[in-house]
Amino acid sequence: MAEPEHRTGEHWELTSEFGWTSKAYDLLEQDLLKAEVTVIDGVLTTRVWGCCPRCGGQLDDRQVPTAVGDFTGLRGGPNLDAEILRPPVVSVDVTCGCGQAHVNAPEGETGCGVSFRVELVADSVPGPGTP
Ligand SMILES: [Zn+2]
Ligand SMILES: [Zn+2]
Repeated sequence: MAEPEHRTGEHWELTSEFGWTSKAYDLLEQDLLKAEVTVIDGVLTTRVWGCCPRCGGQLDDRQVPTAVGDFTGLRGGPNLDAEILRPPVVSVDVTCGCGQAHVNAPEGETGCGVSFRVELVADSVPGPGTP
């Protein structure tokens, strides 16, 4: 599938409407937006990259979420069985970082202003061949 064009003429707007989160979900399904979570030495890092759901620009967002819920339960403990059934889901709020100053953007601000939420499952390996 062809990547959407970067709509740099889109006016800058600080928005986190749910519609963008659901658009981001569609892009994830189409492989135009990718999300990855890695754990190195117990430190969880998320990366979301690909097309911005609003302006179509390329973004690349890395975060180290601090509040990761019951992630430590993975290491073992009384609720081990429950943890295996429910792998931890990490939600990250991603802000457009397409690098373009959009129309009406505040001084020094790049991106189109949208933020959206991506949910990642900590122990899944997202691959290109998802059915
Ligand atoms: Zn954008
Ligand atoms: Zn943009």
